[in-house]
Amino acid sequence: MIRIKNLNKSFGDLHVLKDIDMKVLESDVVCLIGSSGSGKSTLLRCLNFLEKKDSGQIIIEGEEINPETQNMNKVREKVGMVFQHFQLFPHMTVLENIIEAPVHVKKVPKNEAIQEARDLLAKVGLEDKADVYPSKLSGGQKQRVAIARAMAMQPDILLFDEPTSALDPELVGEVLTTMKELAEEGMTMVVVTHEMGFAREVGDWIVFMHEGRIIESASSETFFNNPKEQRTKEFLKTTA
Ligand code: ADP
Ligand code: MG
Repeated sequence: MIRIKNLNKSFGDLHVLKDIDMKVLESDVVCLIGSSGSGKSTLLRCLNFLEKKDSGQIIIEGEEINPETQNMNKVREKVGMVFQHFQLFPHMTVLENIIEAPVHVKKVPKNEAIQEARDLLAKVGLEDKADVYPSKLSGGQKQRVAIARAMAMQPDILLFDEPTSALDPELVGEVLTTMKELAEEGMTMVVVTHEMGFAREVGDWIVFMHEGRIIESASSETFFNNPKEQRTKEFLKTTA
């Protein structure tokens, strides 16, 4: 689904991503972990072309993506993103939030988009919230709406950047459950997370970053039960 080759990215003098090589297989859940500042968000943003790489290749579904020559709206339809702070449109109802991109970017007929939005809301357990504004929702509900909104574009891949980090602890579970259900349906996902329980249980593959490099990359089973690198062992100790 995704192949990254020798990706490098700097902000001024700060070399944030160093020779990143990575792949994401169809229907896999890849969890990206590592301490704050290690480059996880920048890597996700490069994958969604919110950030421009300096060098290297990003290949999505077999096609190398070049923002200069390609229609990025088409590429972004394939790769959805869910953010830490939800980023719902505050002046729109939940339903309007969900149909906005399908109707205006993808040109889906409005009644079709509304039906799809209602189905997605039912799926994330919020069918009764279609007509309320985001300010009336809890953080967990907002994030489930944000997931429904991303799904409404029918992406092939969903990226999550610390989707539960802004939530009160008692609201984390409902969002992780929604993500787990998506994973079980075969959605291809790349998830930046500090939730090691989720990474261990739902993640198929774990990528551990430190100071802009991938230090270790392994199946969830191997990564948690038999990490090779000293840095990984130290990191896992801090999260235990
Ligand atoms: P993580 O998500 O792992 O915490 P980030 O990818 O957000 O790490 O950040 C990696 C490094 O890049 C940090 O040192 C951060 O301060 C820096 N950085 C991130 N975005 C920018 C930016 N837009 N401009 C300058 N520096 C940035
Ligand atoms: Mg981050």
